[in-house]
Amino acid sequence: MLIIDGKKVSLDLINELKASVESFKAVTGKVPGLTVIIVGQDQASQAYVRNKAKTCKEIGMISTLIEMPAETTQELLLHTIHELNNDPAVHGILVQQPLPEHIDELTVTLAINPSKDVDGFHPENLGLLVMGDLDKCFVSPTPYGILELLDRYKIETQGKHCVVVGRSNIVGKPMANLMLQKLDAANCTVTICHSATKNIPFFTRQADILIAAVGHAGFITADMVKPGAVVIDVGINYIDDPAKKSGCRIVGDVDFDGVSAIASAITPVPGGVGPMTIAMLMKNTLLSFQRFNGL
Ligand code: NDP
Repeated sequence: MLIIDGKKVSLDLINELKASVESFKAVTGKVPGLTVIIVGQDQASQAYVRNKAKTCKEIGMISTLIEMPAETTQELLLHTIHELNNDPAVHGILVQQPLPEHIDELTVTLAINPSKDVDGFHPENLGLLVMGDLDKCFVSPTPYGILELLDRYKIETQGKHCVVVGRSNIVGKPMANLMLQKLDAANCTVTICHSATKNIPFFTRQADILIAAVGHAGFITADMVKPGAVVIDVGINYIDDPAKKSGCRIVGDVDFDGVSAIASAITPVPGGVGPMTIAMLMKNTLLSFQRFNGL
């Protein structure tokens, strides 16, 4: 049984990106810039944002953080995005979610220039993904990171049945659409399950590649998995653990102990999909820089 090591792959990728940034800097004298906007004090968001800034700096990109108070008006946020859209030193714009309730997430997503939308949330990017025009769009970093893992581990995907559990706009839907594309690490027959799906185990048991993006700890149990399947766990769930100093620990959507006993390959949580998400965000930022500079 293969443990798909997202931590290792993400470190390899970060080193590759660092080398690319250095070589592009030598040619152009410029480096990619990622600006992250955070509205409010959500602790998990603050931690994600710090991590993104740290990785950006490691790679040699310019990382800018704009912190706005929770009571920021939507108008001011849109104005800030508009300025970043027009700033040639900014190649990637990311507005950390969740946003305060008085701000409409779709309006904010639509305000970001699609060619700087390194999160791939803009409908233009999602639309191009659905059309299979990957050279012209940004793919959301989490699904893109999973594709990268499947590719680097040379997992056979052609014509396989991929079942995605979860249909969110940031993970499930782009993931399913990516696995559908005529790509080396995709080209699957795809089934999507969600909260209204009747008899989910009936579908998951048919999966050669099972991708869980549900948000419920241990949702996928061994009896829901076909022996020999490749299992990708996207979930990040916090459960109580008195043995930990923090009082909690992170687990995925898959019951790792049970499922790893019958799967042919599995991503752990932590150390699987999570580290890939940040690395692919950096890859998208570099891609944006290359597109803006004709590189
Ligand atoms: P959402 O809550 O937006 O979506 C969850 C999806 O799961 C929905 O489509 C929902 O169905 C479905 N679902 C919920 N309960 C059930 C159920 N009982 N049976 C079947 N389907 C169900 O979550 P996200 O997609 O944003 O994230 C999913 C998980 O991945 C979370 O744990 C999140 O923390 C994690 N995540 C991890 C990332 C990483 O980098 N590793 C990045 C992003 C997310 P319906 O649409 O019908 O409500």
